[in-house]
Amino acid sequence: MKVLVINSGSSSVKYQLIEMDGERVLCKGIAERIGLEGGRLVHRVNEEKHIVERELPDHDSALRLVLEALTDEKIGVIKDLSEIDAVGHRVVHGGEKFTGSVLIDEDVIKAIEEVTPLAPLHNPANLMGIKATMKLLPGVPNVAVFDTAFHQTIPPKAYLYAIPYEYYEKYKVRRYGFHGTSHRYVSKRAAEILGRKLEELKIITCHIGNGASIAAVKYGKCVDTSMGFTPLEGLVMGTRCGDIDPAIPFFIMEKEGISPQEMYDALNKKSGVFGLTKGFSSDMRDIEEAALRGDKTAQLALDIYHYRIAKYVGAYAAAMNGVDAIVFTAGVGENSPITRRDVCSYLEFLGLKLDEKKNEETIRGKEGVISTPDSKVAVLVVPTNEELMIARDTKEIVERMRGKCC
Ligand code: AMP
Repeated sequence: MKVLVINSGSSSVKYQLIEMDGERVLCKGIAERIGLEGGRLVHRVNEEKHIVERELPDHDSALRLVLEALTDEKIGVIKDLSEIDAVGHRVVHGGEKFTGSVLIDEDVIKAIEEVTPLAPLHNPANLMGIKATMKLLPGVPNVAVFDTAFHQTIPPKAYLYAIPYEYYEKYKVRRYGFHGTSHRYVSKRAAEILGRKLEELKIITCHIGNGASIAAVKYGKCVDTSMGFTPLEGLVMGTRCGDIDPAIPFFIMEKEGISPQEMYDALNKKSGVFGLTKGFSSDMRDIEEAALRGDKTAQLALDIYHYRIAKYVGAYAAAMNGVDAIVFTAGVGENSPITRRDVCSYLEFLGLKLDEKKNEETIRGKEGVISTPDSKVAVLVVPTNEELMIARDTKEIVERMRGKCC
């Protein structure tokens, strides 16, 4: 079975075509600058990169270009579009309605539209991708995989905020969490690597990329996560502030005479390590390099960044009354021995012992255990693969629909 995975953003469509027999990526790419000048497609087959420049006024034209590339004589990987068996779509917000992946029909589209106020930038872009696919690949089943779904097992004591209850009732203000597909994938993979059953493990998954979140996964179910009503809560990120005193925005808005939107932008786009380093960089590579050169501001930003991660790990160990494994993933988690070492140095009280050599070596797409054999808590690096998870869900749902599955 071949599954096309689509991640449709407001101005780009990312895609992968995956042969599920052997889970091989046949090609991947991005159609970008949709609705802007200078539209183009970057299409990769194995290590080869092909660029097609074409104006892309809307998502229909972007997807049409993707489908052309897939079937192109020179750069294509299939002969005919009929070889695409199903399409899996990343959808950012499923609200309280979606607790797992679903086959898309008119009711599902309506339900995704209904939760749009909770993700006003992302869900409409995801829907544009879904509608374009339905139009251009009629008869091919589409599956929606939600970033929030994995976190729907979080109990009320962890998802409710201590604000007037009517805000939850009227506006559904609560913790939703994001990066759910990534947390689900790496927790499952970690159990496989450890040769243990997911259902018997307490795992803390650290998705540390430009956006960053942590999840407490107890016996395979998420029981808490650091991102909240929006992706702004929790860890210090590239440009997002993470946890702050909620009174701060009111204080700053009054002092600076800025609007709610300007304040919101500052917390989302000018904060995090970018804000802490006075606008030097949001990229952890730059910050680590500067800190190694002796830059005190960069070092402090790093310290704050690591401290916040360690604090959450400690909190989630308490939330689960124990922890068997800690998993690092995403850009920083997969590639930064410095971050992993510093975070783990706070956790020695748990009996955690890091294998320094393995920590240094496990970078650039490698996976494995980086703690010592006698460590009481296993530490792992697992490169995330949200696309594969979306493709697996899509295959499972489509097979179930066709009655081929048990
Ligand atoms: P992501 O959002 O998962 O793509 O992660 C992107 C972030 O990963 C970048 O902003 C970098 O800060 C970080 N990153 C990538 N490679 C490294 C590395 N070798 N060391 C530290 N951070 C890295």
